[in-house]
Amino acid sequence: MSTVCRVDPDALLDGLNTAQRLAVTSPTSPLCILAGAGSGKTRVLTRRIAYRAATGDLDPRHVLALTFTRKAAGELTARLRSLGLREQVAAGTFHSVAYAQLRTRWAERNITPPQLMTRKAGFVIGLLTGAEKSTPGIDFVAEIEWAKARMVEPEAYPDAAKAAGRKPPISYEATAAVYARYEDQRRQKRLIDFDDMLRVCHRDLLSDDGFAASQRWRFAHLFVDEFQDVNPLQHALLEAWRGDRNDLCIVGDPNQAIYSWNGADPDLLRTFPHRFPTGETIRLLDNYRSSPQILAAANALLVGGRGVDHDGTQSATRPDGGVPSVRELPDERAEAAAIARAARDRHGPGARWSNQAVLVRTNAQLPIIEEAMKSAGIPFRVRGATPLLDQPEVKAALGDLRRTPRPFSDAIHDLALSVVVDDESESDRAAERRANLDALVQMARDYMAIESPPSANGFFLWLTATTRADQPDPNGEAIELLTFHAAKGLEWPIVHLAGIEQGYVPIGHAKTPGAWAEERRLFYVAATRAERELLCTWAKSRTFGERAIPRDRSEFLDTYAQACEALEAGVDPIAVGNGATAPSRPSTTNTRSSKPKPKSSNAKGPRQRPGKYPDSLEAADHPLFDALRSWRSERSKSADVPAFVVCNDHTLAEIARLKPTTPVELLTVNGMGEIKVSKFGDEILSVISETIDS
Ligand code: ATP
Ligand code: MG
Repeated sequence: MSTVCRVDPDALLDGLNTAQRLAVTSPTSPLCILAGAGSGKTRVLTRRIAYRAATGDLDPRHVLALTFTRKAAGELTARLRSLGLREQVAAGTFHSVAYAQLRTRWAERNITPPQLMTRKAGFVIGLLTGAEKSTPGIDFVAEIEWAKARMVEPEAYPDAAKAAGRKPPISYEATAAVYARYEDQRRQKRLIDFDDMLRVCHRDLLSDDGFAASQRWRFAHLFVDEFQDVNPLQHALLEAWRGDRNDLCIVGDPNQAIYSWNGADPDLLRTFPHRFPTGETIRLLDNYRSSPQILAAANALLVGGRGVDHDGTQSATRPDGGVPSVRELPDERAEAAAIARAARDRHGPGARWSNQAVLVRTNAQLPIIEEAMKSAGIPFRVRGATPLLDQPEVKAALGDLRRTPRPFSDAIHDLALSVVVDDESESDRAAERRANLDALVQMARDYMAIESPPSANGFFLWLTATTRADQPDPNGEAIELLTFHAAKGLEWPIVHLAGIEQGYVPIGHAKTPGAWAEERRLFYVAATRAERELLCTWAKSRTFGERAIPRDRSEFLDTYAQACEALEAGVDPIAVGNGATAPSRPSTTNTRSSKPKPKSSNAKGPRQRPGKYPDSLEAADHPLFDALRSWRSERSKSADVPAFVVCNDHTLAEIARLKPTTPVELLTVNGMGEIKVSKFGDEILSVISETIDS
């Protein structure tokens, strides 16, 4: 078949373990690769494409590799090039591919393209009447986007949103009415929004056989990375691209599902083996990214949340490193300064700033960290913060591309050369300019792999579709600052996690058990980005507006810090999480500050505060909670371990609330594993029955 690839197939199997080799060479389709963070899923996906090309099993010009951000798509393309694929494999986001296909269809059929709506919130605000006007437009946008991602029409919204536990800004019915008005007005004005790109492409593939046939011919071999974050609309589109063929390979990790709030459905990954009984599922159990210490703490986090969603936890293959640290700082300024100091301390001779990243839960946390980096003279880059398309040199280059009568690919070739020529200059701004233009050239190459023939206008529209979720960043030497969400799929030797506090981790608006579970997974994603060192910090006070608000350490750190303590004591943290006791030892750990201790707080989550009770607990349950705490205190003294190693406050509160009467019921409580139940179950059950009886 393909004559384009002269790479030795066996060479593509070098540096892979047995399961990875199997995943690369398996002749079965569809193929599902299910594995934890850092197990080589993305590596296997790219090797499989290259291997199939090298063995003549596919023509790389007919491959479509789908990911969720342009950055990830660019990385896939770069990895494929380094594997010897000279032909351009099309790698893109669902949106960019769908939009390019639609534009081709419209052009071929002389259909005037609808206009792209770029300011959705403004459009919604224009539709609001009466009391609706006191609600920010963006809150409605979130609901509309969720509904469209789930393929839920306005009339079905109230039931679907209720069932999913959505919390719309006004009543379900009134929100549905705004959604209906939005769709109505959008259609009348012939506008499409980003989700419509997927919806219309899906619809046209189903209704236009010629269009479907040409697209299925163009992209005969489908690959999807990060499949756990696919939403039903994207999935429907993928199915339309697939048609009745089975040539599909997906990789994903249910424990990293972090977009359910936005309509993604991790069940699409979980149910894959049932939907394709003739397909094959391969699991990868070795971790190649993180030190055993970082991995063990991250695994304990999942086990603590009873969230492990594949066969067992992973084994580390990297050399030992330090135990992750947890540091408490008095306020956000002190925290930012401490991170800058720690970053500088780790920047020895020969080390690169780009070895380090600072990850935060919300964009709003970034400015204070940027300031601290500036004062410390540390070069930094905020991923996603400076829209590439707003950069003057990028605007000018796009203008030139539009004006030139030369073929688009020639113009891009010239632009690439000009970037190299500019390389002579050493000033910061020149380096930034060069990096921006280089990013534009890379994107043009990605675009040309998808749309044929390419055009300047097509490129501009593709850019609009593709740079919405993430902005490309220049590849300069700088420490990266970014959100947990933006860090998905990436890795750095040293990672700083800032603001690990209630209100951020989990985020304040996560009120349902599902939302909390997703926040825990998000923390897992963040913690598994680190290769050899992970430093968590949190601030006891943070200023919002004019007011300094006391803050509480993240409840997720209960399990996490406990695991770090166990690691320092040489004990398997997973066993501790399930009730094994750590040996007593002098308190020298760098996680010391993370132990529960009295503090003033405005915590909203179910964390215990001395003298008070968790908000989730009714007054009637306070006596039982007190009794459980007394039991725990005695138990921890007799075993000579910290109290939270026996049971954390959150678990005790849940026991007091649920009042289990049997060991099996006790097992359903968050934080109670089998070992813990077998060890303490009888004692806990008798505390419950004695307290209730009295
Ligand atoms: P995530 O879930 O975070 O996206 P992933 O499963 O996609 O992670 P990769 O990014 O493919 O993992 O791999 C993690 C790291 O481990 C990468 O640096 C990769 O090059 C390396 N790696 C993967 N497999 C091996 C191996 N067999 N030998 C050496 N290094 C490997
Ligand atoms: Mg990956």
